[in-house]
Amino acid sequence: MAAKYVYFFGAGQAEGRAEMKNLLGGKGANLAEMTSINLPVPPGFTITTEVCTEFYKNSRNYPAGLKDEVQANLRRVEELMGKKFGDPQNPLLVSVRSGARASMPGMMDTILNLGLNDTTVQGIIAQSRDERFAYDAYRRFVQMYSDVVMGMNKDLLEHILERKKEERGVKLDTDLTAADWKDLVAKFKSKVKETVGEEFPEDPQAQLWGAIGAVFGSWMNPRAITYRRLNNIPAEWGTAVNVQSMVFGNMGDDCATGVAFTRDPSTGENYFYGEYLVNAQGEDVVAGIRTPQPINKVNGESELPSMEEVMPECYQQLVGIRGILEKHYKDMQDIEFTIEKGKLYMLQTRNGKRTAKAAIKIAVDMVKEGLIDEKTGVLRVSPSQLDQLLHPSLDPKAKKTVLCKGLPASPGAVSGEVVFTADEAEAEAKIGKKVILVRVETSPEDIHGMHAAQGILTSRGGMTSHAAVVARGMGKCCVAGCGGINVDYGTEQFLSGNVTVKKGDIITLDGSTGEVMLGAVPTVPPQLTGDFGILMEWVDRYRRLKVRTNADTPHDSKVAREFGAEGIGLCRTEHMFFEADRIAAVREMILAEDLEGRERALAKIIPMQKGDFIGIFREMKGLPVTIRLLDPPLHEFLPQEEKDIEALAKSMKVSPQALRNKIEFLHEFNPMLGHRGCRLGLTYPEIYDMQVRAIMEAACELTKNEGYSIVPEIMIPLVAVVEELKRLRENAIRVCEEVMAGYGVKIDYLIGTMIELPRAALTADEIAREADFFSFGTNDLTQTTFGLSRDDAGKFLPFYVESNLLPEDPFVSLDQAGVGQLVKIACEKGRTTRNGIKLGICGEHGGDPSSVIFCHDIGLDYVSCSPFRVPIARLAAAHAVLIAK
Ligand code: ADP
Ligand code: MG
Ligand code: MG
Repeated sequence: MAAKYVYFFGAGQAEGRAEMKNLLGGKGANLAEMTSINLPVPPGFTITTEVCTEFYKNSRNYPAGLKDEVQANLRRVEELMGKKFGDPQNPLLVSVRSGARASMPGMMDTILNLGLNDTTVQGIIAQSRDERFAYDAYRRFVQMYSDVVMGMNKDLLEHILERKKEERGVKLDTDLTAADWKDLVAKFKSKVKETVGEEFPEDPQAQLWGAIGAVFGSWMNPRAITYRRLNNIPAEWGTAVNVQSMVFGNMGDDCATGVAFTRDPSTGENYFYGEYLVNAQGEDVVAGIRTPQPINKVNGESELPSMEEVMPECYQQLVGIRGILEKHYKDMQDIEFTIEKGKLYMLQTRNGKRTAKAAIKIAVDMVKEGLIDEKTGVLRVSPSQLDQLLHPSLDPKAKKTVLCKGLPASPGAVSGEVVFTADEAEAEAKIGKKVILVRVETSPEDIHGMHAAQGILTSRGGMTSHAAVVARGMGKCCVAGCGGINVDYGTEQFLSGNVTVKKGDIITLDGSTGEVMLGAVPTVPPQLTGDFGILMEWVDRYRRLKVRTNADTPHDSKVAREFGAEGIGLCRTEHMFFEADRIAAVREMILAEDLEGRERALAKIIPMQKGDFIGIFREMKGLPVTIRLLDPPLHEFLPQEEKDIEALAKSMKVSPQALRNKIEFLHEFNPMLGHRGCRLGLTYPEIYDMQVRAIMEAACELTKNEGYSIVPEIMIPLVAVVEELKRLRENAIRVCEEVMAGYGVKIDYLIGTMIELPRAALTADEIAREADFFSFGTNDLTQTTFGLSRDDAGKFLPFYVESNLLPEDPFVSLDQAGVGQLVKIACEKGRTTRNGIKLGICGEHGGDPSSVIFCHDIGLDYVSCSPFRVPIARLAAAHAVLIAK
């Protein structure tokens, strides 16, 4: 049987279904689905994504048989519509729309009104008895087609249009007459001829195939490629092409077009939320050229007449469809509709993009409404999206100078320096600056700058404008349609009333209220109760993996506990050494000439370390705490600047030269692989002894005086051979027993190691004999497995990721095929010699959703991550259980 390349939909019958997104793309699959549940969808057909894949495989040639299939399906549409494509009296017009598997907003261009030429336009005039409409439709087609298919700069025609309006002394497109549009069509076409060197195609078949080819071609345009890269969409997926008979929202005041969400995509509130324009064609709403009107007054923000008031019957019908769609898809939908002469048509539905806040509210509400179950509710919120909610919002008590107010398009509160172009945003962000991208409106060419910016501010466009939709998708703060500002790219400044804000000035955006403020306004931490709390309860019910945190201070420990951390997976002791009041003692210890000198200095440090541990143990209230003994090379603690060296020499009563010599002696060529970790503990055992003593004394005192049962987990870093661990473990046990005997207290302490060198992973069976637990230090393990220094990787790693040499930055997302295999081997080997050995991960990967899922799959007991990522890891751990594998 020959492959089927084209799927028909129309009049209640469809060959496709919603489940066929891979083949038909999201748009095509849902047009088919809506058709078969009897929603009013203009008939049409979908050319499959396989055709796109074949097209690129066969050096941009269509598979055999495609043309015939397209013609046959076009005939079916003609029959249903009672019109003929290219017919002079009764012409069928179509739209050609791209649609990939995953929605790619604004990435590929749609062509409307296709099939118009100098002959068929007469048929449209005869049918519609509206010459003005017919020529308006025609000129729109010429504009879109010449841009998308013929590659002409759209400004050239836009320019001619502007000149026409000037000439005729009118401001709006809608003030132009039929004669004006007719004249413009002719002018447009000759401009096309002049610029492209080719006649604008009159033959509707040529137009159709030109458009289909352009959709497939757009799959490989730079914007689409960038979007795919940012969203991890493989190029092999391809796009489908939808050819659909046109309906017109621009045939008069009983016509309209709009977009809506079945619930508020910003807050998740359960009311019908949308915008529409009377007498307009689809692209007018998205382009943000005219200010759209609300479909209803539920949230009462707009003064403009609503669709509910203006077109009550169509509105009620749309409300009915809203209900049908939510029951059918069991998720919030993002829809596009058009009303032609009082008749409603559905043009698109898809699961709506939403903020994290909305995702949680919608999931919790839909479970309460009985639409979905708890597990589905948990899966509805993506772990990486949660990040948005875990960040600060504006401090309600902070003083703020509000410049103006736009639409609250995507929440969050951010400050940064004003820039006006996407390239600038990217360049400034590269050198570590925080910037706000300010534009009149954004377009797909700005994606890279939007990505680099902290937030986006536009002066034009609605809640469904490009800027708003893309920012919400990225989880980025956005204030859109801020009409109160006047952006001047030429002078690189914007005006708000009488205030001028220049490039480089700092402003603050509040994407939840739409406010734009002068200067940097302070923020407060996020709220973790309400719906968030309910969702996290479900999350904890389903996950197996425990989530701990990396914390070095009582404050961080407290924050992490509030985020739900179940212990500390990594407490780095060296951070405590840097504090102003102790660095002197630490330096004294490092620079001491002999054991005696070192012990004298260590005696000064021990009460401070003990105090640190008491603070942390107290916050963690008996939850496990893994403490890593000193890890970095000693010279990291020494002064580098001449004046600091002199000051230290003076206080140590040695000559600056003697001190310089000592510092010189401690210098290493490759400190990451140098005298650090357990190598220090073996050459200066008194350092580790002091730390173990501080840990155990803190634990004994709290157990004795405050009644917590504390289980310290003493962790020895950078072990490569078992003998290192064996000796250090013996030392540690000796100290532990001594301390416990002194206090007369028994503590269930553990002694384990970090697995962060490939040799340790490969000999994990031997190492496990001496270790009560393993904690995978996947930062160093990534460095040592790749032979890649993280500190030096900035010069080439971004290139590696951009050019697909690596799928992702291995320091962000665990390299499962390489580093991950070492982790897996070490787990398996470790278990062979120590049954039930405790296994965890403490690298930064512990807060990366896909890495967390990997850790679950290989059977780790816990992950540990920074406090702010704890809820993300908890949710990812629940997803690991619930997603079908
Ligand atoms: P995108 O994927 O960028 O949203 P669409 O294919 O949905 O592009 O089309 C853009 C706009 O054109 C939509 O707002 C839609 O309403 C309008 N449109 C598409 N096809 C038709 C049609 N057959 N009749 C009327 N309007 C259409
Ligand atoms: Mg659309
Ligand atoms: Mg390390």
